[in-house]
Amino acid sequence: MTQYETVIGLEIHAQLQTQTKLFCACPLEVGKPPNTNVCPVCLGYPGALPVINAQAVTLAIRAALALNCQVHTESVFARKQYFYPDLPKGYQISQLDLPLATRGFLDIDVEGVSKRAEITRVHMEEDAGKNLHGLGGHSLVDLNRAGTPLIEIVGEPDLRSGEEAAAYMRAVRDILVAIGANDGNLEEGSLRCDVNISLRPLGQKEFGTRTELKNINSYRNVQRAVETEVNRQAAILDAGGKIVQETRGYDPDRNVTRTLRSKEDAHDYRYFPDPDLPPLKISEATIQAASGDLPELPAAKRARYQQVLGLAAGAAQTLTGHPEFALFFERTLTLGAEPVKAANWIQTEVLRGTETQGASAKFPVSPSQVASLLSLVDRGDISGKQAKEVYALIEHTDEDPAAVAKGKGLVVQRDGSVLEPLCMELFQQHPKAVAEYRAGKQGTIGFFVGQVMKRTQGSADPKLLNEILRKLLEAPE
Ligand code: ADP
Ligand code: MG
Ligand code: ZN
Repeated sequence: MTQYETVIGLEIHAQLQTQTKLFCACPLEVGKPPNTNVCPVCLGYPGALPVINAQAVTLAIRAALALNCQVHTESVFARKQYFYPDLPKGYQISQLDLPLATRGFLDIDVEGVSKRAEITRVHMEEDAGKNLHGLGGHSLVDLNRAGTPLIEIVGEPDLRSGEEAAAYMRAVRDILVAIGANDGNLEEGSLRCDVNISLRPLGQKEFGTRTELKNINSYRNVQRAVETEVNRQAAILDAGGKIVQETRGYDPDRNVTRTLRSKEDAHDYRYFPDPDLPPLKISEATIQAASGDLPELPAAKRARYQQVLGLAAGAAQTLTGHPEFALFFERTLTLGAEPVKAANWIQTEVLRGTETQGASAKFPVSPSQVASLLSLVDRGDISGKQAKEVYALIEHTDEDPAAVAKGKGLVVQRDGSVLEPLCMELFQQHPKAVAEYRAGKQGTIGFFVGQVMKRTQGSADPKLLNEILRKLLEAPE
């Protein structure tokens, strides 16, 4: 059987996080009753005129720059014409020949191997409305979404596996969230992905015929959809068949792809420049300023956390995976916490109780609570085990860990006159263990440490306890 190489290129549609729509002043709230966030412009009434949203342009420029693209000082809006009930104007305003930005790249990481994928273009366009099927036997149209600002990011066919495609989608999402362009809410469709897939015999230069899987909105589904489609195409090619270039849908429940429309009924959109919108002009100065304004991007942050702060790759990945996580972590450091310890605590304790919703996150504690808790441990005032107890008590409160520890009597037991009698008592109860130790079985000390810890609820200072145990066990009888 022939060995194939998988070739994948992604087109990603991402909603821009603006207050209002792309060409009118309708607000962009989700969850509003159908057809309430609408006006003559986004309803496509004759004579209504579009006016470009400056905030959307700013965010689109930021996104293009963060994806290392060249932003053009002049781009052109065009009408992409087709008929569909969720498109009241009969055309979508998009960009074709002169897009906002071209020629960028994105570095992705798959299992520790870094790879650069090129980006063909980033252009601006408006979203369509939504058709809702099967409501009381009817199909209904909700135009609240019509006119929502989007960017489309078209990638070169540089990806070679489902993992790479998923990593690429994740990297795009993380960047857009980090720069405040997108809310990252994949479940709500804030970022959707069309996946183009083809196979070619290993070693062949020309690409094979591709299919396009429409509107996939999770990393997992991108990966599964690729794998499923690769198997389908390989089976056809192995049987001597030909791949039909077509648009397909992926059904995650049954893990199959199926034809949506074939090339035969492919649209001829008859694009032409929109006469209602002048060319979009952006000055060099604006582009320069936007470029200087970009925050540290996730990849750079990840590298810094590992190389400068000494975090493990996994911790760096987790903490840069959401801008609010990174902010929380960095605030904790500003308050004096040691990076590796802070990262550890945030990862294992804080994030367990954190709720995220798109770009926002709700933490169970504050950075200053974490910083002071860690400093209690650092100073040896409480043990690591006690820190967990204190943490459980301060979650969802604004209480000071030091005060809580004191109030609960949680302090490290560093008083030898308390620990010594406890040890003596244990020796009496376990003469065999004492004899074993004295016969040279040093490991027995661990048994006594465990027993003392049990009786002191883990509060004994481990170093002191070890010293005392050794001293007593080694003393002549
Ligand atoms: P269209 O606008 O018709 O969808 P494009 O040529 O602009 O077509 O390509 C769209 C996407 O398809 C791009 O992301 C590109 O990387 C990808 N692509 C193009 N050719 C192939 C191929 N042979 N195999 C896989 N992906 C491809
Ligand atoms: Mg396409
Ligand atoms: Zn409107």
